[in-house]
Amino acid sequence: QEPIIRMEHVKQYFDIRDSKGKKGTLKAVDDVSITVHKGETFGIVGESGCGKSTLGKTMLNLGAVTGGNIIIDGQDVTAFKSRKEKVAFGSKVQLVFQDPSACLNPRNKIKDILAEPFQIHHKKEMSKAEIEAEIDRLLTMVGLAANYKQRYPHEMSGGQKQRIGIARALALKPDIIICDEPVSALDVSIQAQVINLLVELQKQMDLTYLFISHDLGVVYHLCDRIAVMYLGNIVELADRDALYNDTLHPYTKALISAAPSIDKEKVERIVLTGDVPSPANPPKGCKFHTRCPFAMEKCKTEVPELMEVKDNHLVACHLCNKEE
Ligand code: SF4
Ligand code: MG
Repeated sequence: QEPIIRMEHVKQYFDIRDSKGKKGTLKAVDDVSITVHKGETFGIVGESGCGKSTLGKTMLNLGAVTGGNIIIDGQDVTAFKSRKEKVAFGSKVQLVFQDPSACLNPRNKIKDILAEPFQIHHKKEMSKAEIEAEIDRLLTMVGLAANYKQRYPHEMSGGQKQRIGIARALALKPDIIICDEPVSALDVSIQAQVINLLVELQKQMDLTYLFISHDLGVVYHLCDRIAVMYLGNIVELADRDALYNDTLHPYTKALISAAPSIDKEKVERIVLTGDVPSPANPPKGCKFHTRCPFAMEKCKTEVPELMEVKDNHLVACHLCNKEE
């Protein structure tokens, strides 16, 4: 079966200037290839600045990547040129943000916020009553009573606002939802409710999730497969169980060591020292070598390739890539 998302050597670079005005290139996503199957929840984890959000957004920045191809449902979205093509495709992939307030206009009532996708995409063919019926349907789906449509965003809790953000993303019946830290801004007690809602909706609507998070604990409970990113590259990619029970990359071990909600008996404890280096000026060789307790001489100069070292388990580390 053809995967619903196929990213091939995707690059997303940005021109930047440092504090002294010197020009440079920030390689936020640097040669990333992944495939995601229909109905799957694919996790992307890493510390902030690792490129995970940028990778998610390349799927929405239709036509605007620096390099590589992104094939969604058989169509190469990086080849789109006209606005018309992009709009026609746009409803297939939707984003749920970390901060729901970012997509909820504070001056609009919930009913207007939820009506907007229909007005943009189906202005001509839908009547007011039909749109209203869709809004009621969406509110029910996300577990909110119909009278919430008369409220303003500031009259709702963080969890309720995130439910509206999810309802809005679902309005046009997308196939793929990019969830970018969808529960990180919420109280721990609310996080589980929102995650359960996402799982329930996935079953009902046959959705594919790209789930982006810094929190390996959240990803562990939700994802089928997980890619770990560091400074723009995938360093390990495996099925959830293999990633946790047979962890290979020192950086993944460090993230697991730091995740409070994971039982860590099986994983060697690694405490990370130092900050993430600037993505604008990453270390040479293995980009992780400045923080890796196992770094060898060759790690400073030779870039480890992402290789399949076991069935469906890929890792980029000189310790694991034995045939080199
Ligand atoms: Fe550590 Fe070297 Fe492996 Fe990089 S390649 S993770 S520095 S051992
Ligand atoms: Mg981010």
